Amino acid sequence: MDNRWCTACGAAFLPRAQAPHQSYCAEPACQRERRRLWQKAKRRSDPDYLENQIQAQRAWVERNPGYWATYREKNPGYAAKNRADQRGRNAKRRISKIAKMDVSSTAPVLDAGIYELRPLDRETFAKMGVWTVQLTVLSASSA
Ligand SMILES: [Zn+2]
Repeated sequence: MDNRWCTACGAAFLPRAQAPHQSYCAEPACQRERRRLWQKAKRRSDPDYLENQIQAQRAWVERNPGYWATYREKNPGYAAKNRADQRGRNAKRRISKIAKMDVSSTAPVLDAGIYELRPLDRETFAKMGVWTVQLTVLSASSA
């Protein structure tokens, strides 16, 4: 039998005869990681599985009201980390949304050239009038 290296921890292990393609060692942390990645992939590829998980989680929360509020009270470090992580996820989502808007934008491409720049409101227009500006395109998203 040949030794393998665990995908999670990198340690050498001997695969079980019943699982010739085993790529994670038997350590509980590595098995949790394997299970976590499997579930993540399954939730992405199987909408029924995802919906079932959501329903099961909702049902559990209904059976255990106040569990998370109590948990957050008892584990302030967890709550603070979770808030920080969520802020990060929200920021990432905003950036991703902006990137998607750029890609799907059907706005006409602005060519480099000479343009007139004039403010829309009268007050600023009175102060600065019309400017003649030269625009140079440094980069443009491909539409
Ligand atoms: Zn391992």
